[in-house]
Amino acid sequence: MRGLLSLDISELENILAGFGEKKYAAKQLRAWLCKGVSFEEMTNLSKDLRQKLSRNYTEGYAQIAKKLTSKDGTVKYLLELEDGNLIECVAMEYRHGRTLCVSTQVGCRMGCAFCASGADGLIRQLTAGEMLSELIAARESGDISNIVLMGSGEPLDNYDNVVAFIRSLQTEFGIGQRHISLSTCGLVPGIFKLAEENIAVTLCLSLHSAIDEKRKQLMPISRTYPVAEVIDAAKAYFKKSGRRIIIEYTLINSFNDGQDDISALKRALSGLNCHVNVIPLNHAAGKFSPPTKTQCHAFAALLEKNGLSATVRRALGSDIEGACGQLRRRVKENDVLRENS
Ligand code: SAH
Repeated sequence: MRGLLSLDISELENILAGFGEKKYAAKQLRAWLCKGVSFEEMTNLSKDLRQKLSRNYTEGYAQIAKKLTSKDGTVKYLLELEDGNLIECVAMEYRHGRTLCVSTQVGCRMGCAFCASGADGLIRQLTAGEMLSELIAARESGDISNIVLMGSGEPLDNYDNVVAFIRSLQTEFGIGQRHISLSTCGLVPGIFKLAEENIAVTLCLSLHSAIDEKRKQLMPISRTYPVAEVIDAAKAYFKKSGRRIIIEYTLINSFNDGQDDISALKRALSGLNCHVNVIPLNHAAGKFSPPTKTQCHAFAALLEKNGLSATVRRALGSDIEGACGQLRRRVKENDVLRENS
């Protein structure tokens, strides 16, 4: 049966028209679905309609298949979608509210060398409703004030659904542009297109190296879009949105942590209003090994010395990370939010 949360208002209107109902009921139905309630509890719809709906459709909510709670308040959810696919989302506590890291695809086709999400390639796109269902499910452990599109998947590879999701966050869930970040591996046409949408979310760019030869070893996408093109797109995004760009830099021991890497970053980022978020590689992957905490802080300090704004990502939920073997992938959390207020 089809889940109604994935349908837009005009699709809901068509369904209701088929049941002989008035159009305005679609708005009521949609409002209930955004609240996460069952058909039965939609008390301003007639009993007859509620029964028809539950006979022919589901609400479209994800089920919580597993929940891990960290001492620091981070909650990881493994969610089961209606077709049985599993996705993850992570709710994190910050001083200024709770942030939810959402997945945008089941799997991912970008194939970055160190990333677990892409290990099996792309399974399928998530609908906007399924992304909303992550938020609806995660609210059970407390209100969510900020969203980062930084879970499994490449958001700009699922462009229309992601934009619909962001618009819905803004108009139906009251989560504004200042409270939403989108992380991309650097799909240049998507960045230019996003700049034209007038949704002005914070753009996070997974750079990981400003040296093309190195970046190609980490991220296959950089064979299509070299560093200079990605940075030009980020500049265009800043110009349109006025939002400072977050550069994500996963630090890898003895790979992208040298003076040449810092010089390349300095050159590449000159003229871009940005902040560099240094993320320690969280597990060894092939020839790539994690840095120490000290290395990360030293690297960020050197970036600052070179005139760049940089911080090391705060690690949340580290005590439950080990239990993630059963989850679909390891969870990555990011504190871009701090840069976001
Ligand atoms: N596809 C998007 C968003 C998902 S990944 C993107 O590429 O930005 C979110 C961030 O976590 C990206 O910066 C990604 O490169 C990084 N990441 C992935 N695997 C990691 C790992 N093992 N250690 C540290 N960071 C990782």
